[in-house]
Amino acid sequence: MRRLLGILLNMATAFSLLLCLAAVFFWIRSQQVADGLTHTHRIASDGVPLRRVVDVETKDGRLGIGVGYVSVPLFESRGIPNYPPPHIVWSHFGFRHRRLSYHAMKHILEMWYLEVPFWFLTLAFALPPIFGLTSYLRKRKRSRTACPTCGYDMRATPERCPECGTAAPISI
Ligand SMILES: [Zn+2]
Repeated sequence: MRRLLGILLNMATAFSLLLCLAAVFFWIRSQQVADGLTHTHRIASDGVPLRRVVDVETKDGRLGIGVGYVSVPLFESRGIPNYPPPHIVWSHFGFRHRRLSYHAMKHILEMWYLEVPFWFLTLAFALPPIFGLTSYLRKRKRSRTACPTCGYDMRATPERCPECGTAAPISI
């Protein structure tokens, strides 16, 4: 059980490291290029045919997740339009809540974006690997000075374990 937990923990740490590297990659890349994934499907509405939109994008050092809807003719003519200029609802330390809202005749666009800066994602995903590495190094340092039989700390008595009597020539 302990062993299984250890394996799962190592896998989670490795995954976190992978996400950390991906965050650094997109942090740099998003300064030059905007990447995006958009999913849409038609939804029922009275009168105006709409498309539900779920949008993920990386741009200007941020990962943005957007949800909303757009009228079908507008979507088919230009995808998710860049107009109007987005309304920044709030913005702190690179975190942003952004809103796109456009209503004209049968053209409707409503999108809400939550944006998280890549510096934050990089830091957050770096913590588990850093923690894992320091605890590994600490454990390794401890095992070098511990009794091989019972694990007692032998730094004060390097020749013989005071706990179980094992003679262990260890070097400190
Ligand atoms: Zn011992």
